[in-house]
Amino acid sequence: MVQYELPRLPYDYDELEPYIDTETMTIHHKKHHQSYVDGLNKSLEEVGSASHPQYITSILSDLQLIPESGRRKINFFGGGFENHRLFWETMTPDGEGSPGGKLEDAIDVYYNSFKNFKQIFSDTATSIQGSGWCWLVFNSTYNKIEIISTENQTSPWTLQKMPLLGLDVWEHAYYLKHQNRRPDYINDWWNVVNWDYVENRFSELSG
Ligand code: MN
Repeated sequence: MVQYELPRLPYDYDELEPYIDTETMTIHHKKHHQSYVDGLNKSLEEVGSASHPQYITSILSDLQLIPESGRRKINFFGGGFENHRLFWETMTPDGEGSPGGKLEDAIDVYYNSFKNFKQIFSDTATSIQGSGWCWLVFNSTYNKIEIISTENQTSPWTLQKMPLLGLDVWEHAYYLKHQNRRPDYINDWWNVVNWDYVENRFSELSG
């Protein structure tokens, strides 16, 4: 059966300083993300994962195929695994501040300007109640980009939307440095977004 493993970070724990602090990165990756990896492996084993050999994004896209007894757990741990995997990839110590190419064009079409896009994304992330994620997704049904939020570890894949960029707003993602000031964390995070990665992902997924 497929055994998921904790993915390596594309940078060191201290490299996103001063925006995301070393201690938060270390605990978030080594402890929190590891717990989603372990939970996913265990949940897949419980439902007999031999019959579900696809990668987790395919499983999340069609959770109805999973026995009902395991669906909630796989939604949570599978989402947790994949959401964090993408989260690490979409950050970089060399953030350039804004996207280019085809993604920039799409942002201009749907949000008028990058500045306006950032404002709407930040407002959406700030207003999430409790734990969850804020996303820029590609909606392939309507061939457009959208800003959405999901609760807990629910992945956009379960909504048939492809995540391009996700922001973790669980308190474990920022509390050590920013305490209750989620808007400050969001402002800091914009400095480390890897727009090259997000643009490439958009190009790949949108064909
Ligand atoms: Mn997290």
